[in-house]
Amino acid sequence: MSKLVAFAAIQGAYNIVSQVEGEYKKALDTFNADTPVGFPNTAYFLPVIYSLLGLKIQKLEDMQKPLEVIRKLLPPHIKGMNHLPYLGPLLDAGMAALFSFEIREALRYLNEPDFYLHAEEIDEEAGKIWLGAADDTVFRKRGVEFVDGSAPGFAAIVGAAPDPETAKMIVEEYQKRSLYIFLAAEHNHTTVAQQLLQAGVQIGWNTRIVPFGPYISSAIFALGFANRAAMAFGGIQPGDYKRMLLYNKNRIFAFVNALGEVGTDWGAAAAGCVNWGFPTIADTDIPEVLPTGVCTYEHVVANVAHADMVQKSVEVRGLKVQVATIDIPMAFGPAYEGERVRGADLYCQMGGGKTQCTELVKMAEMNEIEDGKVVIVGPDVNELKEGGSSALGIYVQIAGREFQTDFEPIIERQIHHLVNYIQGIMHIGQRDIAWIRLSKAAVEKGFSLKHIGVVLHAKFHQDFQKIVDKVQVTLYTKKEDVDALTKRARAEYKTRDERVEKMTDESVETYYSCTLCQSFAPNHVCTVSPERTGLCGAYNWMDCKASFEINPTGPNQPIIKGDCLDPKLGQWKGVNEFVYKASRGAVTHYNFYSMVHSPMTTCGCCEAIAAMLPSCNGVMTVNRDYSGETPCGMKFTTLAGVMGGGASSPGFVGHSKYNITQGKFLVGDGGIKRMVWMPKMLKEELRERLIKRGKEIGIPDLIDRIADETVGTTEEEILPFLKEKNHPALSMEPIITG
Ligand code: SF4
Ligand code: ZN
Repeated sequence: MSKLVAFAAIQGAYNIVSQVEGEYKKALDTFNADTPVGFPNTAYFLPVIYSLLGLKIQKLEDMQKPLEVIRKLLPPHIKGMNHLPYLGPLLDAGMAALFSFEIREALRYLNEPDFYLHAEEIDEEAGKIWLGAADDTVFRKRGVEFVDGSAPGFAAIVGAAPDPETAKMIVEEYQKRSLYIFLAAEHNHTTVAQQLLQAGVQIGWNTRIVPFGPYISSAIFALGFANRAAMAFGGIQPGDYKRMLLYNKNRIFAFVNALGEVGTDWGAAAAGCVNWGFPTIADTDIPEVLPTGVCTYEHVVANVAHADMVQKSVEVRGLKVQVATIDIPMAFGPAYEGERVRGADLYCQMGGGKTQCTELVKMAEMNEIEDGKVVIVGPDVNELKEGGSSALGIYVQIAGREFQTDFEPIIERQIHHLVNYIQGIMHIGQRDIAWIRLSKAAVEKGFSLKHIGVVLHAKFHQDFQKIVDKVQVTLYTKKEDVDALTKRARAEYKTRDERVEKMTDESVETYYSCTLCQSFAPNHVCTVSPERTGLCGAYNWMDCKASFEINPTGPNQPIIKGDCLDPKLGQWKGVNEFVYKASRGAVTHYNFYSMVHSPMTTCGCCEAIAAMLPSCNGVMTVNRDYSGETPCGMKFTTLAGVMGGGASSPGFVGHSKYNITQGKFLVGDGGIKRMVWMPKMLKEELRERLIKRGKEIGIPDLIDRIADETVGTTEEEILPFLKEKNHPALSMEPIITG
């Protein structure tokens, strides 16, 4: 390594440390020594200092200690003509700079509490684009992706590209590789974050492009994030700096891209990152730091052309990521799953209450279909006007020597995340309540419905090699065709649902987990029993069993239910243990048959949400397709927004429509007899089954005693009706027993 760069970095560290010491003194002049300091809503204090030094910085005066450590870390200034080894002192200097950065940022939170926006998404209108330290809620949701492999790591980009287009090009290449992109520092009075906004790219945690802050010191939030992941998910103890740094080197694939002149501050930070095994790849001509074993390959690589930046970075860090080559004009990959298509970006939509949107996967004979064929019946997107909507039927036929009809629901459920993987396209729901929103950007790039077929064909082959030989996709957009498909699909759903009709929870020893939705709701675990289908309605016990057979390491695992801890509320030891592990400790237990006491967790896919109505001594439920008011005071969308994050929320629970008429539905709270309100459309949809269920419990006209929106949408409005109908809930024991 060059003496020059070592000199610059060490010089940089000296400057930074002295400045931050000054900032600390100034803060002591302004605030009491015991003023609380730290980053918002976190149990990890200043995470870099806490994880490496084991020091908990909670009050202003607590900063004294790390500042002393930092001073001692500064190596002697370089004199004379020695060449190697410079690395040791250089790394220490870098570390001193990074610790100082973290203190500087904590002082910024103290001095300017509103400098950073405390949110997952930026507020562009208010000019608030810097998100600062991720709080623990964001961290738990995102950090786990670094551990479970859904995100291989992150690219920390400091500075700014020569122009917005270059910034966009680099960032999109990283997105395609499922990496997070952490942004900090400015160059030439602009930043990559600002450039991306100019280029129309959505930034924020949801698109994995995180604008931390406009200073080089804001880059410390990236390292703090990595170290928290190592503590929370890697079991590394605070203060165990050796294992902490090794864990990062071996497990977190991260690197720095320096866009712009690397001055002494940036040099010190780059040297600091080498401690983590994170190399720096720069676009300017700075002296390189060649391999000595700390990073996987080179430590600092200079003068890399922008067009080669991504490839070089990935190579230097030794990252093997598969870029699925799917031939569509939009980017594709899990990084786009959380991207939203908001009102202003919307070009047109299918489903979502405006039109019908239905998905169906069916098995076909080998000679019946042609692999890779995508047919569009009816007008394509280019014939739709901006702001328009269209019906859509996605009909997928699959043939395979090993394929069985039992596998249809499993493949069908994948449509949700695969369509979401397309950049600029948003997919919500499943079955006959799917909803697709197309962004203007995607339409400008030439999005055609055909691309949905291309994606499904490619991914079904890739992900289900063992069972899939041929895939043909037909997309219907004419109302009459979609209605016909929907009719057929509903009959299929019914047949699928009824496969568990005669089964009971007592008849099996094994339930199945479903963790498919953890990409949206990280702590969420559905446990599917014969009498409790998945809350999305798409997976029942049989489906999960088949899914496990196809993919033994996949999202549906058998759970031996074990000792029954509560037969009334439906709680089992084996399930609790599984859920505890699968939620990474966030959920310790839940009940299958209760919404009042520790209900199952709920994610955003639920077909319906039940809520307690205390004045009526009963419960209500509302389905996704009903958009009106409900007696619990919240519409479905509000309920889903509040509940859909994967938590267990007593008083509420997400469930499938079919589940309402299953024998164990809320039996712990009194069962279907508690149901006092449902939207009329849902009652009609379930009419036959509700009557059957009513007969089984000795109240054949139960359906007529349940209020709906034509009776009222508040508890006061429906109560007289319930009294008049002598609704059974009114004479049951109090729903809240205290
Ligand atoms: Fe699986 Fe539950 Fe998500 Fe349905 S809602 S896909 S059952 S985790
Ligand atoms: Zn879900």
